[in-house]
Amino acid sequence: MHEYSIAYDIYLASKKAAMENKASRINKIHVDMGEMVIANPEQVRFLFDVIVEEEELFDGAELVFTSIDPLARCGCGYQGHEIFSCPRCGGVPEVLKGREIIVTRMEIEVAEE
Ligand SMILES: [Zn+2]
Repeated sequence: MHEYSIAYDIYLASKKAAMENKASRINKIHVDMGEMVIANPEQVRFLFDVIVEEEELFDGAELVFTSIDPLARCGCGYQGHEIFSCPRCGGVPEVLKGREIIVTRMEIEVAEE
């Protein structure tokens, strides 16, 4: 399932970042999601909650999605939001942005030593 793999990728990325920063708890995970990623954020959120259910680190962690506009570039020099055909020459532009799912920022708590 598409949404499941997205949720799992977010889980892995945020867990790795949490370990690197010695987090004891994750409060918020900010995720940039390209508009071309056809996924239902509510579904991703639900599946994410299922994945992290047993992990104290993620207790109460909230996913915050930011939608990222697509960006494409064509050989003719066009650059813009048209991703399927170039409005200038009719060619197929190369998609630079809009397919990514990236954990951009996390709000964490760090255990006192
Ligand atoms: Zn073009």
